[in-house]
Amino acid sequence: IAEVSECNIQDVDRAATAAASAFKSWSKLPASERARVLLHWADLIDTHRQDLALIINAEQGKPMHEALGEISFGTPFIRWFAAEAQRMDGDVIPSASAGSRTLVLKEPIGVVAAITPWNFPVAMVLSKCAPALAAGCTVVLKPAEVTPLCALTLIFLAEQAGFPPGVLNVLTTSKPAAISKALVEHPDVRKVSFTGSTEVGKQIMALCSSEIKKLSLELGGCAPFIVFEDADINKAVQGAVESKLENAGQSCVAANRFFVHESMMDEFLEKFVKAMRAYRPAPQVDLQNEECIGPMTTKAGFERQQVLVKDAAGKGACVLLGGRPSKAGGRFYEPTVLSDIKLNMQVMQQEIFGPIAPVMAFSSEAEVIELANATPYGLAAYFYSKDVTRVWRVIEALDFGVVAVNTPNFSSEMTPFGGMKQSGIGREGSKYGLNEYVELKYLKMGGLS
Ligand code: NAD
Repeated sequence: IAEVSECNIQDVDRAATAAASAFKSWSKLPASERARVLLHWADLIDTHRQDLALIINAEQGKPMHEALGEISFGTPFIRWFAAEAQRMDGDVIPSASAGSRTLVLKEPIGVVAAITPWNFPVAMVLSKCAPALAAGCTVVLKPAEVTPLCALTLIFLAEQAGFPPGVLNVLTTSKPAAISKALVEHPDVRKVSFTGSTEVGKQIMALCSSEIKKLSLELGGCAPFIVFEDADINKAVQGAVESKLENAGQSCVAANRFFVHESMMDEFLEKFVKAMRAYRPAPQVDLQNEECIGPMTTKAGFERQQVLVKDAAGKGACVLLGGRPSKAGGRFYEPTVLSDIKLNMQVMQQEIFGPIAPVMAFSSEAEVIELANATPYGLAAYFYSKDVTRVWRVIEALDFGVVAVNTPNFSSEMTPFGGMKQSGIGREGSKYGLNEYVELKYLKMGGLS
């Protein structure tokens, strides 16, 4: 599609040094001044949303209606944090001793290294850069090597919006391990915010340990999707399709393991297969056609789908739909439904990151909660039930950072998103999101009696 610069280790140093220098003045601006530039950036992204969506579509592959949806999801992070930074209040605490005062100040932490994945190449950049910049930090962004153009376009628009030089920097590279290491270990970087796989997240965490850098990790998931016997089955089927096929399944919160009560299994499978069949893997040409899914963005992801289906079929799974590359060619893969699932199948243990839905029967609430929690991941979980006492019991029993009840949709700039266990550390979005980019300074003043 295009060629972009191959940054080297000297560029990492130039970017981090520029960010450290810009931090001195950017962090001292009134929050309202920073907000003014941020809001201008959001407006420019909105103005150019059609072009940006075309770039997402060309570079990452999601259909145009989903690309526009990603921009509609991402841009509000800028507006939310532009406002939130103006409420970065500290505290005045009653003093423990006479003649003294006690305060808590909030200060921006410094230079932030933001490392982002390819699956939401606009939204993931904005959900990190917006709170960091709003808090008064400066940023060096390292986008995924698969999707540099989205990041470069956002930075171009940021420049137009009036961010001073050095406040927001970007490093494009085809050698992510070496460049990320140099960036994370750079002495000027005080905070690392990483979104990507758990495997790489662990390496980033180790790199942060030598200088004890503040760290946020948004990592992989293996979401359970549970349909109880009292669920509205039609709504559950609709939610199952949506949570499976967004971005052709290439989402950290995609439903990965479907558990359906044995009494509903036949009806669920019949309706689910019918609904999944309606989605065509195809390059989207018609914006009106929302029942189409994009390709697997990477070759490795495309090949993984084939390996997963082969493994499951070899262990006794029944392929009710799909189970093969699409006739559309390229890296398109058919929406796939598997039944007769066993726990030793890879689809039940790994992040699928594609349009495969393994469906397993369960017989009791206690059993399915144990099954759902039996994963090292803890990002998102979905369940459908109309029994309000069960709803509260199950919410409290699930070890996941996000629990979605009777809905597949929960993403918003206003809510704290993040994982438990090996799905990560920290939260993005909401009033909690700003804390990731802030240090607390406790101030004790004596001699006041
Ligand atoms: P990835 O871990 O391969 O890459 C993420 C980032 O790390 C990219 O910028 C990449 O260039 C860089 N990177 C790759 N290898 C590296 C290395 N050895 N050392 C340092 N940096 C390296 O992930 P991906 O394939 O781009 O994205 C998919 C993963 O991201 C999935 O696991 C998905 O669940 C996860 N994800 C999580 C969230 C969340 O919010 N929790 C959101 C989106 C994606």
